[in-house]
Amino acid sequence: MRYHGFMETFDVAIAGAGLIGASIGFELAQAGLRVAIFDRRQPGEGASWAAAGILSPAPENAATISMVPLGRASLALYPEFVATLQEISGRDVGYRAKGTLQALLSGEVQAKLNTIVALHHGLGLRAEPLSADDARELEPALSSELEAAVLRPDEASVDNRALTRAVAIAAAQAGVKLFAGRPVQAIRQDGGRCTGLIVDGEKIEARWTVIAAGCYSAEIEGAANYAPVRPAKGQMIALRAENASIERVLWSEHVYLVPRNDGRIVAGATVEYVGFDKEVTAGGLQKILDGAIEIAPALADSKIEETWAGLRPDSPDHLPIIGPTGLDGLLIATGHFRSGILLAPITARLIREWITTQSVSAADWTRFSPMRFVETGKGTNS
Ligand SMILES: Cc1cc2nc3c(=O)[nH]c(=O)nc-3n(C[C@H](O)[C@H](O)[C@H](O)COP(=O)(O)OP(=O)(O)OC[C@H]3O[C@@H](n4cnc5c(N)ncnc54)[C@H](O)[C@@H]3O)c2cc1C
Repeated sequence: MRYHGFMETFDVAIAGAGLIGASIGFELAQAGLRVAIFDRRQPGEGASWAAAGILSPAPENAATISMVPLGRASLALYPEFVATLQEISGRDVGYRAKGTLQALLSGEVQAKLNTIVALHHGLGLRAEPLSADDARELEPALSSELEAAVLRPDEASVDNRALTRAVAIAAAQAGVKLFAGRPVQAIRQDGGRCTGLIVDGEKIEARWTVIAAGCYSAEIEGAANYAPVRPAKGQMIALRAENASIERVLWSEHVYLVPRNDGRIVAGATVEYVGFDKEVTAGGLQKILDGAIEIAPALADSKIEETWAGLRPDSPDHLPIIGPTGLDGLLIATGHFRSGILLAPITARLIREWITTQSVSAADWTRFSPMRFVETGKGTNS
């Protein structure tokens, strides 16, 4: 749909209909606001389509420890998020609350086990050390080379493709106007405030504007200072195995395996800084396959059903960028890097709270403010 000769106005205009933009739109429409979302392609063809769908608030490294409370809060919202979406959209989203299991295959295994368990407990995350035998009892496909494992019983996974579709359907049913094939070029500014978006050359007026264009957010004129994201490519493989069945998400240092309800096992992922390139490479696939077969050797006989790559929105400090900017009316919701599927419900809730009450329930959300790059001058992503 195009507007000719008049300008439609909304309470909220959102750039990007990935899981983040669509979840925000859905939540705001449910709160009674008039919302429009503009996507330059079809909704949900970006990182939200490409992801593995693991819902784990555990930190991957020291830099992401400050994200743990946000991740825990979002994981806690998931059962209700999924139930609401499934009811409204009529779609199953493949939510599996079965825990995840980290396989320890080599090195100083006892020391690693102690460190992982202590770190998790210190962060309020449940983690149980398992012997190799106990782990194989839970997951018989695990390698005989396994030395020990850590079970994280509260973690889960979701079919992110189904989830992203369900959110778009639920958003539309809640009254969100979703415009596909409408690229956002710039934010509109008037009298020192943001007054909407320039979409495909046309002016869209809104009291609130949210930039949720994933790794492309920095390309929207006027948004780059607040959302200095860059793409981090991840390659993925979907396997189907006759002779190996996996119940939980399995991890090693090199790879993760995510079982889906339809019997597929999704394996990934590389992290590559190669611009906006989405090619699948022999080296990338080899890395994933080697890691997958190391954890579960029977996967050597599995069929490769699909390969793909996606682009994660990464920020300079690898933490999400969520909240209001120095420009009245403009909010950012991007930079979710490797955790955007996990963080969608809490991101939508925080943005909705801010837009409707100008306050939020998460005490630590200023840690993720878009202003941290503007104030520190650390807006360059290297
Ligand atoms: C291989 C891989 C594995 C991952 N695994 C996990 C995982 O297991 N768990 C997890 O929590 N996270 C995971 N992630 C991260 C997660 O996928 C992302 O953080 C999340 O999907 C980001 O969602 P988004 O809506 O911000 O971005 P996207 O899904 O990329 O959506 C952005 C949207 O904006 C649109 N857009 C871009 N520019 C414009 C413009 N100028 N105008 C209008 N529209 C525009 C795009 O077309 C797109 O639809 C993974 C990512 C990848 C790539």
